[in-house]
This record gives sequence, structure tokens and C-alpha cells, in this order.
Amino acid sequence: MNDDLMELYQEVIMEHNRNPRNYGVLANANRAAAGFNPLCGDKINLKLHIDSENKITAVMFEGSGCAISIASASLLTETLRGKTVAEAYTLFEQFHALLTGHPTEGIPLGKLAVFAGVNAFPTRVKCATLAWHTLKAALLNNNTTVSTETGHD
Ligand code: ZN
Repeated sequence: MNDDLMELYQEVIMEHNRNPRNYGVLANANRAAAGFNPLCGDKINLKLHIDSENKITAVMFEGSGCAISIASASLLTETLRGKTVAEAYTLFEQFHALLTGHPTEGIPLGKLAVFAGVNAFPTRVKCATLAWHTLKAALLNNNTTVSTETGHD
């Protein structure tokens, strides 16, 4: 990745960290999970509303942690609104593949592509994927807590 692109990516991450989107508690949530990354101290609480056609109509989060974890959660909420649950799983797989250096084709990742640069910093991959592991937990097993140190990566 060239330096200009790296700088642009860092700007997007910093901007979402300063001004996270969809931050707060979702009143009509019917799926929720909490995620914790003990290596960095990042915590994310995620709440979603899924309608009768398995479409994600709203997503909100609260949390504390490093810029990468907060920006990732913010961009996750922007990306997921209006997607189906099946599309959310596909995006999880694509995001994970991108972060581990094996990008795949599928749903356009849009701004999520800024996290490609994190691949160069293996210790930060868990910061970037925390919100996505929390999402998966909320979809699979409502009201659970996941840790990045219990077999996930
Ligand atoms: Zn972190």
C-alpha cells in the first residue's frame, strides 16, 4: 500500500473514532451481544433490530477502546443497516479475510476496505475484528459475551 493511501485510511479511522456513528443504546433492539478484547482493553456493546424478513433495520453500539476498535464498530453499524442477516455473515467472512491478508470477492466492502492496512499490524487485527465477532455472537446466540481470547481470532 502506498503512503498516500495509508494516510487516507488512517484519516477515516481517526475521524470515525472522534465521531462514531450510531453510538448509543438502541431502544427496540431484539439482538444484543458484548465483546471484549483483553489484549488491548477494547469493549463493545452491540444492539440490533432484525425484522420479520431477517433484515437488519437498525444497529447501534457503545464501547471504549482504541481508535481502531471504535472506528471498526462505527463503520460496522453504517455498513449493516439494510443488509440481511445472511449478508452480515458474508461481510463478516470477507472482513476477516481482508484483515488476515486473504481478501475475497463478494459484497462491496466500501469504507470497510480502510482496514486492509491493519493487516500489517497483527496485534491490532483483534481490535478491528472485535465488533464483527460481537455481531456474530449477537446473531448466533443472543445476549452473550465474547472474548477475542477464547478461540476466536
Ligand atoms: Zn484495540
